[in-house]
Amino acid sequence: MTPSRPKITIDPESFKKVISLEAFACELPTDEIPAQGMSSDAAYLAINYEMELDGDPRHNLATFVTTFMDNHARKLISENLHRNFIDHAEYPQTAEIEQRCIRMLSKLYHAPEGAQPMGARCQGSSEAIMLGALAMKWRWRAKREAAGQDTAKPNLVYGADVHVVWDKFCRYFDVEPREIPLTPQRFTIGPDDVAPHIDENTIGVVGVIGTTFTGENDDIVGINDLLVKIKRDRGLDIPLHADGASGGFVMPFIYPDHPWDFRLEQMSSINVSGHKFGLVYPGIGWLIFRDRSELPEDLVFYENYLGKVDATFTLNFSTGAAMVLAQYYNFLHYGHDGYQAIIESMKRNADDLADRIAAMEEFEVLTPEVQLPLVAFTVAEGQSFTAYEVADQLARIRGWMVPAYALPNNAQETVMLRILVKENLGRSLINQLVKDIAEAVATLKSQASGKGSGPVAVHTGTGY
Ligand SMILES: *Cc1c(COP(=O)(O)O)cnc(C)c1O
Repeated sequence: MTPSRPKITIDPESFKKVISLEAFACELPTDEIPAQGMSSDAAYLAINYEMELDGDPRHNLATFVTTFMDNHARKLISENLHRNFIDHAEYPQTAEIEQRCIRMLSKLYHAPEGAQPMGARCQGSSEAIMLGALAMKWRWRAKREAAGQDTAKPNLVYGADVHVVWDKFCRYFDVEPREIPLTPQRFTIGPDDVAPHIDENTIGVVGVIGTTFTGENDDIVGINDLLVKIKRDRGLDIPLHADGASGGFVMPFIYPDHPWDFRLEQMSSINVSGHKFGLVYPGIGWLIFRDRSELPEDLVFYENYLGKVDATFTLNFSTGAAMVLAQYYNFLHYGHDGYQAIIESMKRNADDLADRIAAMEEFEVLTPEVQLPLVAFTVAEGQSFTAYEVADQLARIRGWMVPAYALPNNAQETVMLRILVKENLGRSLINQLVKDIAEAVATLKSQASGKGSGPVAVHTGTGY
C-alpha cells in the first residue's frame, strides 16, 4: 500500500502575504498574457528562479561578449535606460556623445590626417557590417552606372573564417558570396587565396581581425598590397573592410605597431563590437569609415522628425542610449592606458593558460604570433576521448562553458576547444580551471580504460 500523502490546501490569500509562495506554487503563464497579474515581487522572483537555469555568465568562457562592468558603469546604465538613442531632437547630448566616440575610434584606427570622421553607433557588429557592406555595394553600383556598365552581379570576397553575418548580408542584400575555403592546416586567408576571386564586379574584400574560430587575423596587410597592385595594374579600385568585431579593441592596445587599420591604403571601413573587447554590456557596435566620402549620400535618410531635420544611417530606429553612454564612460574612465592594461592582463592570463594546457600531452595549443586573448586548442592525436567530451566534463565539474566545434570548410576535420580570457577569468580562476581540465582528462581516461580499452596513465593534474 502506498502511504497517503498529507493533504495540503493553500489559501490563495496567503500568496499575497508570502510573496515567494506565489512564485513557488504557481505555474507561470507561457502562452497567453494572464487575465490577472501577480505582484511585482513575485513576478521578479519567478523570473529570477528561471534565470538560475541559464548558465552563469561568469562561467561562460565561450562568449566574446562582456560579462563584467564596474559599479559606476552599471549605475550609469540603469539611470539612462529610459533614454531613446534615436531621439536626437530631445537628446542632443546623447547624439554628441555618439559623435565623440566615433571621432575617438576614427583616431584610434589611424584615419588619415584631415579625414572627416564618419561612422555610426550600431546594435553590434552585425548591424555595422550590414551598413558597411551596403556602402560598398552602393559605391560599386554608382561607379558602374556612371561608366554605363552592368550592375546585375555584385560579389563580395571573404574567407570561410568569417562570422555568419557576412553570409547573411549576401543573402539579404542580393550579393554573390565568394567564400574562400580554409585548408586543413591554415584557418585564415591571405592574398593568394583572394586574388583568383577578384573581378570588376567585386564590391569589396573582407579581412577578419580576430576570427571567432581561432582568434587569428587574416593576412590583411598582404590582401591590402594585392588590392593596391590590382588598382595600379588593372584600374580596379576595390575597397577593403576589416571585421574587427573582437580585434578592433585588441590590436590598438597590445599590437600597436601592426598596421591592420586605416594605415592600409585600401582600408575603407571597419566594424568593431563595443560589447566585446570594448568592455560594454551587449548591444553596442560601431562602424567607422575612413572618411565621410566613403558613405554614399543616398544611404543617409533625412527626415523631419518631431520638428527637426535629422539624418540617420541605421537599420534599427529606436534603441537604448545607455550603452553609448557606457562606451563613453569606458573611454573616459579607462583611457588608452587603462584599456592597454586590461587587454594586456587578459592576454598575459591567456598566454599563461595556453602554456599550461600545452604542457599536457593530451592537447595541442594553437599559438599564432598575433591572437586575441583566448586559448584555442585541440585534443592531440591518439587520445581516447574527443573535444566534445572534454567540454562536457568541464560543464559537469564546475559549470564551465567551453565550446567544442568543428572549423569551417575545408578545415572541418579540426575540432577546437576555445577559452576566452576576459575580466571574469582572473589568475586564481585560471589555476582552478587548469586543475579542472586535468580532472576532466583523468575522468575521461579512466572511463575509457573502464570500457576495456586497456590501462591509461591518469593525469592527476597536480603541479598546475
Ligand atoms: C561577434 C562577431 C561578429 C558579430 O558581432 P555582433 O556584435 O555579435 O553582432 C562579427 N564578426 C566577428 C569576427 C565576430 O567575432
